Amino acid sequence: MFVSDPRIELQRSGRLSADHLLRWRAAAAYLGLAIGDALGATVEFMTPREIHEVHGEHRDIAGGGWLRLRKGRVTDDTEMSLVLGRTILAHGRVEPQAVAEGFSDWMRTKPVDIGHTVRRGISLYRRTGTVEVPENDYDAGNGACMRCLPVALATLGAPVEEVAAANLRQSHVTHHSTLADLGTLCVIRMVQTALLGGTRTALRQLADELVAADKRYAYDRKRIENPGGYIVETLRAVFQALFSTDDFETALIDVVNRGGDADTTGAILGMIAGPLYGFDAIPRRWRRTLDADTQQACLTQSQELIALSASHRQ
Ligand SMILES: [Mg+2]
Repeated sequence: MFVSDPRIELQRSGRLSADHLLRWRAAAAYLGLAIGDALGATVEFMTPREIHEVHGEHRDIAGGGWLRLRKGRVTDDTEMSLVLGRTILAHGRVEPQAVAEGFSDWMRTKPVDIGHTVRRGISLYRRTGTVEVPENDYDAGNGACMRCLPVALATLGAPVEEVAAANLRQSHVTHHSTLADLGTLCVIRMVQTALLGGTRTALRQLADELVAADKRYAYDRKRIENPGGYIVETLRAVFQALFSTDDFETALIDVVNRGGDADTTGAILGMIAGPLYGFDAIPRRWRRTLDADTQQACLTQSQELIALSASHRQ
């Protein structure tokens, strides 16, 4: 199922098709998400100072942290993405009822970590059957953004209104905030732009459009350290790290060493920087350490979701 290495493909056929490159970048996006999650989890809820005292610079997937993770394991960011992706593949689109059912089944497995807003949304679904929680801008959390990658892959090439609507159908199962919806759509568009070969400058334009739409996202002021679960803090940290570095490894190390909600800043940065810099830019030592079953699930799903998007791109 997994797309063959572009270098081998080049040797074999002398050229690399646009489709092959796209599939390779999709794989890098999903792997970037999982690696960012696994790397950041070790230092989640730590301050940059605490990280420095314990790890110097945190650079290796090591497990541990407050969740006492096994080395290579991921958290809810990757797990919920995989659940969402499975429901999209089963229904051919984002089907909120299936998403809610999938999340509810996942919660039954006693996940290693689960956000407060996610738990509340799933509990409401179980009690009332609703697949859209009430609007609440007070807690514009990052929990719907951290799992948005399957939407970005499956809707690549669709009109932006359709992409936005698909995202709301998954986000509102647990999170309903105009501010968070805006930030999540920006991340999805950044991933999609990178998948199609867009540069860092093109991604920066999207971030700046977001800031123009809502000034709270302005990321050019003071350095964000210890970002919390508030999506504005999350994305400001991600943008600062992404736009002040020029390779996958440096960008990811930058963002997780800011501490705070480091698994989620890592996951979001990883899903953008993966397709931006390409599969080969992901350090081998991180790929070797990432849990093998998770890695396989991410790679397989990336290929199935990008195949699903082909109908939008004809
Ligand atoms: Mg997490």
